[in-house]
Amino acid sequence: MIPANFQYTRAGSVDEAIGMLKQHGDAAKLLAGGHSLIPAMKLRLNQPGVLIDIGSISELRYIRKEGNHIAIGGGATHDDIANSDAFGGGLEMYPQAAGLIGDTQVRNKGTIGGSLAHADPAADWPAVVIASNATIVVKGPGGERQIAATDFFTGFYETALAEDEILTQIRVPLPAARTKSAYAKFMQPASRFAIVGCAAMITSSGGTCSNASVAMTGVGDAAYKASKVENALKGKSLDSGTIQSAAAHAADGAMVMSDHFASEEYRTHLASVFAGRAISAAV
Ligand SMILES: Cc1cc2nc3c(=O)[nH]c(=O)nc-3n(C[C@H](O)[C@H](O)[C@H](O)COP(=O)(O)OP(=O)(O)OC[C@H]3O[C@@H](n4cnc5c(N)ncnc54)[C@H](O)[C@@H]3O)c2cc1C
Repeated sequence: MIPANFQYTRAGSVDEAIGMLKQHGDAAKLLAGGHSLIPAMKLRLNQPGVLIDIGSISELRYIRKEGNHIAIGGGATHDDIANSDAFGGGLEMYPQAAGLIGDTQVRNKGTIGGSLAHADPAADWPAVVIASNATIVVKGPGGERQIAATDFFTGFYETALAEDEILTQIRVPLPAARTKSAYAKFMQPASRFAIVGCAAMITSSGGTCSNASVAMTGVGDAAYKASKVENALKGKSLDSGTIQSAAAHAADGAMVMSDHFASEEYRTHLASVFAGRAISAAV
């Protein structure tokens, strides 16, 4: 498949890219790793007149500790995260989820910023950033905004990002002591996208859960926080019975999707199974 004609420009900095977005308006689209946008253009689902390549902006590509959080640049690739040693002490699910994305080519070029901005309902990162209570930092002509990850995903391929804004950073708070996390997914066997995925972050003391943060992807039209699962864990002894009965609430309140990969009923079942696996792995 061949995309419709487009003009190609390359931005050397975030500010230059914002200027180009302003100049070209609706016709323009940012190009990062291209692993979601180019396939969509080839299928003519997306026909931007101008592509603004932000893939070589070095100020977007980093992972570093800054005070009480880990800062991930929007241009960090999945592979950068999979191989980073910045994610100890409760944030183990970051390199774990990154290593489960697609194949080597996808991980080498695809970026966390591109994935979050694209908001594919089957993408892995949305569950991870929600469960880790991350803040999404975006920049546009009016300056910088910070959006809680829980408010960022607004629907099917929809986010709180405005057309003229760039996702510049993911800010992940350092978890409390005795916190562990894990990501588990039932993957589409060819692409490895999540038919259902769960990110779980559990803080425990003497076998009792003092805090739980659990998020699901692949289940509905956007990733969400599984509050009923969290509430069923908090203050309880983390034995397998408690975990399984909490995980049974993983799809509660979600408009569960049905497609040729999984029916609504099967997906609901998978949500409980994979929530149970992620929580058990974190524990
Ligand atoms: C074969 C295959 C398998 C895959 N498997 C998985 C998988 O298992 N799990 C998974 O989660 N994903 C998977 N993906 C998707 C992959 O992770 C993409 O890399 C990712 O979704 C998009 O990142 P990108 O950098 O390639 O963005 P692009 O494709 O370049 O852009 C995607 C969209 O985001 C916008 N955008 C990009 N960067 C920014 C930014 N910094 N600020 C604002 N907007 C921006 C673009 O304008 C575009 O609309 C797969 C893709 C392929 C092709």
